[in-house]
Amino acid sequence: MSFKKSEKLYKKGLVNLVGAVNSPVRAFSSVGGNPLFIKKAKGTKITDVDGNKYVDLVLSYGPMILGHRHKKVQKGVEKALKSGYSFGASTENEIKLAKIVCDAFPGMDKVRFVNSGTEAVLSGIRLARAFTGKDKIIKFAGCYHGHQDALLVAAGSGLATLSLPGSKGVPEGAVKNTLIAEYNNLESVKKHFEGDDNIAGVIIEPIGGNMGVVIPQNNFLKELKDYLETKGALLIADEVMTGFRSKFGGAQELLGVEADITCLGKVIGGGFPVGAYGAREEIMQEVAPLGGMYQAGTLSGNPIAMAGGIATLTELKKQNPYKKFEEIGGILEVILLETAKKYNIDLVVNRFGSMINPFFTKVNVTNFDEAQTSDTEKFAVFFWEMIKNGVFLPPSQFEAWFLSSALTEKDIQKISKAIDMAMLAVSK
Ligand code: PLP
Repeated sequence: MSFKKSEKLYKKGLVNLVGAVNSPVRAFSSVGGNPLFIKKAKGTKITDVDGNKYVDLVLSYGPMILGHRHKKVQKGVEKALKSGYSFGASTENEIKLAKIVCDAFPGMDKVRFVNSGTEAVLSGIRLARAFTGKDKIIKFAGCYHGHQDALLVAAGSGLATLSLPGSKGVPEGAVKNTLIAEYNNLESVKKHFEGDDNIAGVIIEPIGGNMGVVIPQNNFLKELKDYLETKGALLIADEVMTGFRSKFGGAQELLGVEADITCLGKVIGGGFPVGAYGAREEIMQEVAPLGGMYQAGTLSGNPIAMAGGIATLTELKKQNPYKKFEEIGGILEVILLETAKKYNIDLVVNRFGSMINPFFTKVNVTNFDEAQTSDTEKFAVFFWEMIKNGVFLPPSQFEAWFLSSALTEKDIQKISKAIDMAMLAVSK
């Protein structure tokens, strides 16, 4: 397998792009080697500039839930392109997508579209503060909520407990109202509330996806919501990754918990830049022009992106692939565990529906500290062997693998063979 053209583009890209990428994980820093440059994708496959074809389990980090270039999405977007790209005024499609979203999430009476998950979350946080009149927000170590200053904390447990910024350029003042708790540990949330009545809410990935997949244990989310109600604080569900993926109504539908504020991204745009935040009527009354919380966007509700979102969600609802996800996910989980056993490798697999992650560790992974016990060098070997055997994975131990509804039995066989080769390589 040759990566010559990717290597050439990488060197060329280094001149005018930072690290030749526009988002750091794409740089392959944690697995070594040069990043792959992609030429095209269709269905379950993605092809790099050297002509190597892979079964894609990255799916653009989640959005491509129907697989690439689904014909209905392609058609919807092509139609929209003929009418104009951006108007700076409202269109009927915004109302259509808003209805699809609000129907799917009972806790959302109204929604505001933005352009990314980061924007959705930063607006959702502002809304929680506007509604409660309180300043502090609790987040969980290992949860990622986009790159806004206030939530770029807890990049590692030491930094996490101290509430120090996890990125250069973030002033301490920007994170002084961010408190850190441990995932799956309600007591760590309760501690923050002791003697503090200035906490607006708790933001959570209802299924952790950015420390690898980490599953809420027992009734964690429900107990968290019940507890917050007693404190007059809001539950902010960051469903940027899980929205429309865990279930059509997100992790909230799956886990039977209704958040006060919901943030969406990824699948909602089907590969086009769309994010959204929403809540029940009384909370959304705070948002301008109804209320005093300002939030705006030149390209928000962009007609091409709205068309991509409508076509994706309409098709997704029709396909209802969640049972299929559960079946395929279950098969992959078993293949990973049995192959690891065959080669005597310590492996823990965390999976929730169509999000899955193997950790090279013996430790049961329920939070960020436990996720970090995974042997990332083994993951790097595993990653490259999967690439060489035609499976495109996220180039990081701590990124979830995603399934699309387009996956076929043949794809699963290919993934299975690749896993065998990759585990063999790890065992050497
Ligand atoms: N929230 C979660 C849970 C995410 O996984 C991400 C991105 O991976 C974001 C927020 C930020 O979304 P975006 O990258 O679209 O800004």
